[in-house]
Amino acid sequence: MKLVFATRNTHKLDEVRAILASEDLELLGLDHWPELGEIPEDHDTFELNALQKAQVVHAATGLPTVADDSGLEVDALDGRPGVFSKRFSAEGTDSANNALLLRELDGVVAREARFRCVLALVWAGGARTVDGRCEGAIALSARGEGGFGYDPLFLPDAAPGKAMAELSADQKNAISHRGLAFAQLPALLDAVNSPVDEAGDLKPA
Ligand code: IMP
Repeated sequence: MKLVFATRNTHKLDEVRAILASEDLELLGLDHWPELGEIPEDHDTFELNALQKAQVVHAATGLPTVADDSGLEVDALDGRPGVFSKRFSAEGTDSANNALLLRELDGVVAREARFRCVLALVWAGGARTVDGRCEGAIALSARGEGGFGYDPLFLPDAAPGKAMAELSADQKNAISHRGLAFAQLPALLDAVNSPVDEAGDLKPA
């Protein structure tokens, strides 16, 4: 089976190929469709952004398509930066975003936060989403050299005493929002192969 992953990020493609290695499928990135320009991500939830991306690409390619959207939610900031994680600060660089986050949390004691990643799968018979979450807290200062984005400021509950940026790639994948979401993809793909009844609802295979 052919499956499109709505990304031009080869690192993400390789990551998903590794997760789906035992599945009988060919994973295609957006490089196969250079005519598809930038796909908008203008909704206010991860779910709707991921679904929008998957729907646009499915409509253009006619193939089952998976898309993701991810970011950081900070409880003391009512869930911000959320879907605006990439462009939280005016500059939009990782260091400017992290500096702004520390300023906004200056003096705040309750620093609980989570990374979230939503995957959407769209195919001719329907659409499904799954959610991966990594709970933790925002540190008082940046630590570590690994990862990207907010990793130097994120203290995952699942790795006590460490910032996400202090973990190896394998350690991060085992606990991260993205790793947990992608791990659900094989089960999600079973839906693509399930028969659809006249009302368009999935029947158990
Ligand atoms: P995207 O969904 O991959 O475009 O991620 C949106 C933004 O969320 C990124 O630019 C980062 O700022 C943040 N983000 C998403 N995942 C991670 C992560 O694993 N570590 C740190 N920051 C992340």
